[in-house]
Amino acid sequence: MSRPLIVILGDQLTDDLPVLAGAPENAVVALFEVEEEGRYVPHHPQKIAFLFSAMRHFAQMLRQQGRQVHYTCLDDSDNTQDLISEAERVAGLYGCDDIRVTSPGEWRLFDRIQKRRGNTPPWYMVTDDRFFCSREGFNQWAQGRQRFRMEHFYRWMRRETGLLMDEQNNPQGNQWNFDQNNRKPLPRDITPPEPPEHQPDALTREVMTLVETHFGHHFGTLEGFNWPVTRRQALNDLAHFIEHALPFFGDYQDAISDQHPFLYHARLSGALNAGLLRPLEVCQAAENAWRGGKVPLNSAEGFIRQILGWREYVRGIYWLNMPDYKRRNDLKADRGLPAFYWTGDTDMRCLKRAIEMTRDHAYAHHIQRLMVTGNFALLCGVSPAALCDWYLAVYIDAFEWVELPNTLGMVLYADSGYLGSKPYCASGKYIDRMSDHCQHCRYDVKKSIGEDACPFNSLYWHFLERNKKQLASNQRMKLIYGSLNKMSDDKRQALREQAIRFLDQLEETPAYGQGDHLAGYERRTGKGDD
Ligand SMILES: Cc1cc2nc3c(=O)[nH]c(=O)nc-3n(C[C@H](O)[C@H](O)[C@H](O)COP(=O)(O)OP(=O)(O)OC[C@H]3O[C@@H](n4cnc5c(N)ncnc54)[C@H](O)[C@@H]3O)c2cc1C
Ligand code: SF4
Repeated sequence: MSRPLIVILGDQLTDDLPVLAGAPENAVVALFEVEEEGRYVPHHPQKIAFLFSAMRHFAQMLRQQGRQVHYTCLDDSDNTQDLISEAERVAGLYGCDDIRVTSPGEWRLFDRIQKRRGNTPPWYMVTDDRFFCSREGFNQWAQGRQRFRMEHFYRWMRRETGLLMDEQNNPQGNQWNFDQNNRKPLPRDITPPEPPEHQPDALTREVMTLVETHFGHHFGTLEGFNWPVTRRQALNDLAHFIEHALPFFGDYQDAISDQHPFLYHARLSGALNAGLLRPLEVCQAAENAWRGGKVPLNSAEGFIRQILGWREYVRGIYWLNMPDYKRRNDLKADRGLPAFYWTGDTDMRCLKRAIEMTRDHAYAHHIQRLMVTGNFALLCGVSPAALCDWYLAVYIDAFEWVELPNTLGMVLYADSGYLGSKPYCASGKYIDRMSDHCQHCRYDVKKSIGEDACPFNSLYWHFLERNKKQLASNQRMKLIYGSLNKMSDDKRQALREQAIRFLDQLEETPAYGQGDHLAGYERRTGKGDD
């Protein structure tokens, strides 16, 4: 009887995957920790620890179910440190006739496996069923459309799934979207809930030591590691979020705080992307809380839209357009990543805090990613490759299928509006309205010119001026280009000079793989000095 090797990738830790359910009794299930996956960008140590620990716990659970499991640890002496060759080596070890794997979430690996189909032993890919919308379903939806809009896709998904729909298949509350209620800054007298605590067990502590040894010089600290590494812990986080944070999720979805990294966000993206939670159960939990009268509709809808809408939509865009999508750079942005993205060493308080929170938790919430670190990179003209490598490296939830469209498309507008209808560019005024950072900043958010002027302000106008050819005809940008046109030549000149002066002194880091990109970080922190 033939014997398959079932390969489970680090983001496929879902116990009812079809590839597992359909496996014969004699199958060997294999998980691999390999350097190649850990190093192609310098992943945050918490992200590597999260994935390795979750993988080890998953292997333990499979063994308890009576399955034969092979687990390659990072420092095993015979580890080939490359996923494909490791699978083929292990298949030989156990006399397996074929290798089966759930279709990977990332094009690079998908392409490599695709090319091994005719190999001996052959590779087979099984469809990943952990999304609401299949890749084929998205392609059909997209066919014939000139412009894709998330909102249209989301409404279609609501109808398809019945989530938050009434008996006549109309949206609950007679509205698809409650965003106009969801733009409040955090009041001073409100303290968001603390996330649940997970004490690292022996397995996690062992992994943390391993990660410190191999990847301790990467940006980010392991201290305070508090991510769920089992399904049980992830379910606990989900229940905690629904009870304590979801009621206010909608109201403060766009708020930014100088002190509170998580606000009312779910912190569930790592668990969702690694497969510890299924998106349907997460959305159903939110809908049930609304039906039970425990959370308002604007919160339940706002939250479900992120998962049923945005998460599925960016995945669809990714698979529809790869590999060409990754090469898009329509605004011809060519600046390297600012060096302080690896240190937080800047006087700009909003950026400093977003980067410090990222360093400490491998986390920053969506608005920090979009409107602070993302917006700044957009205004400065950072290249998509440099910025994507950073986002892919530093966040607990970062996998290319979701990171790339968010960074290249939503943040950098490098796809000319394929994903978003206009660039999310903003001056300091937006950050001042939505956060309390500016009160702690050495710059004056109300000023655009002068030594203490908020850099976002002149950079904003400089960005608009620089990209006028590509952006001025966009209907949604008409108003702002009207303001730019009305400005006096002197004012425009002064803003331009202010922005150029700022950009000239901005220290850059070379793209990963083209130099010692962490040199600045290592120099300042002493990390990496062996
Ligand atoms: C530049 C940039 C890069 C990003 N990179 C990633 C990434 O690598 N991985 C990732 O999962 N998300 C990414 N996001 C989306 C979003 O910022 C994170 O999903 C979110 O911050 C995770 O925290 P949370 O679980 O507390 O989310 P919440 O704010 O509580 O939202 C709930 C869930 O909705 C989903 N979600 C929300 N917004 C998005 C979105 N824009 N795209 C996809 N899913 C979304 C996530 O699964 C999230 O867990 C990125 C956003 C930007 C602007
Ligand atoms: S003044 Fe400008 S740089 Fe400082 S926190 Fe506000 S927006 Fe950021």
